[in-house]
This record gives sequence, structure tokens and C-alpha cells, in this order.
Amino acid sequence: MHGLAFHARTDRGMVRDNNEDAVLCDPVLGLAVLADGMGGYQAGEVASAMATVHIAAELAQALPAGVALPGVPVLEQRVRSATENANRAIWQAATDHAGYSGMGTTVVVALYAHDTLVLAHVGDSRAYRLRQGQLQQVTRDHSYVQEQVDAGLLTPTQALAAPNRNLVTRALGVENRVTVDVASHALAAGDVWLLCTDGLTDMLTDADMAALLALPGNLAHRANALVDAANARGGRDNISVILVGPHAGHADPALL
Ligand code: CA
Repeated sequence: MHGLAFHARTDRGMVRDNNEDAVLCDPVLGLAVLADGMGGYQAGEVASAMATVHIAAELAQALPAGVALPGVPVLEQRVRSATENANRAIWQAATDHAGYSGMGTTVVVALYAHDTLVLAHVGDSRAYRLRQGQLQQVTRDHSYVQEQVDAGLLTPTQALAAPNRNLVTRALGVENRVTVDVASHALAAGDVWLLCTDGLTDMLTDADMAALLALPGNLAHRANALVDAANARGGRDNISVILVGPHAGHADPALL
């Protein structure tokens, strides 16, 4: 039993007319899924909703309640397979319906099982870990600016201001196959995990996020503080966060 609390919040932001992000938590399964859709005429909302619903449904079926969970290597396969199948379903819908042509979505999938986080992602939505006051990004963006940083053509600081910083190099639904990054991370007592879309990370620095994640109070309070801060900076895009961490009232070593 993972014993963790989950809290999700998604917000339209201050500028956009609609919200193309989607968030979904299944605390019984220990699952959080977050997606940032793209595509015109509400198609982005369709893609992000399809990704979250498909992945949660497939994993709930593959890992039924009351049955002992398999080991981490098998969990990694299940998470990868659910994400690949969501890609195929979105791609098929985009191929079959003219109104959905060109839609796609990022995704972050976090499955907490045993003493491990099994984490999958595609695109530039991110996962971070706050441990003993230190914030660390644990996903690497699939984006043009990340490739340029990796190649030494841009510094990380230049990447923050690059005009093409929102261009992703991978997304679900764009082609019939996608490469999903899957990695496992050991959990420590008191960790607080943040999944978020670029509407948060474009508005806040890592230092801002670390300070807000370390606020006292429950996860809902901290999620609201993150979203409110991004909106206060302009809220130029939809903003979504999922926080996973200790239940309120438990000792919280992340804050020590
Ligand atoms: Ca976005």
C-alpha cells in the first residue's frame, strides 16, 4: 500500500478561452495522469481527455484491486503499454474524424507501488520531486529547446526565454507509434511529487515552486498556491498540477 495522498487541480489561466489540459487521479490504484492537449476546435481537449481516461482505465483493468501487484519490471511494461495504446487510440481518432485532425497531447503517468514510483512521459509536461527541501526535475522534456540545451547550443537560462520553447518533439496521437520514456524512482518518506504542465513552469522558477511546495498545510493548499502564483504572473496558458505526498497531519520530512 502506497499510503499517499493525491490532489489534482487544473485551471484555464488568465488568457486562454478554454482548457486543453486534463488531470486524473486514482488513489486506490496509486495512479496520477496529467496531459496537455494541442489542436484546434477543442481537439486538444479531446486528446488530453482521451489520454488520461484511456491510461487510467487500462491500468485499472491490468492491475485489479485486491490482487497482489506484480514487480516493478512488469509495472513498467504495463505503464508503457497503456501509454502506447493511448497513443494509438488518439491517432486513430485523429485519422477517422476530420475535426480531430492534427490533435495530440503530452502525458505524464505516475504509478506509486511498493516503494517505487513508475514514471512515464511524452512531451514537455514534467515531474518534480521535493525531498528534504530540494526540488529536482525528474523528467527530461521532449522539446526542441531541450535538444538544443543538450547539444550545447543554448544555456538552460536561454532556453527559458526561447520563443520556440513550447515546441515538442514527441506527443501522443501524432503518429501511430511513439517512444515513451519510462523510469522508476525509489520513494522516501516525506517526498512530495509534482506533475505539471508548461503553463506552470513557464510562469514560475524552480525556486518559486520549491518555496510553494514547502508551504505548511495540505496538498490542496499547496496546489492552489502554485496555480494562484502562475496566474498572478500572467497565467498565459492553462495551468495543471497534481501533487502526491504524505497525508495532512503526518510528519513531513520534506519540510525539515
Ligand atoms: Ca500548455
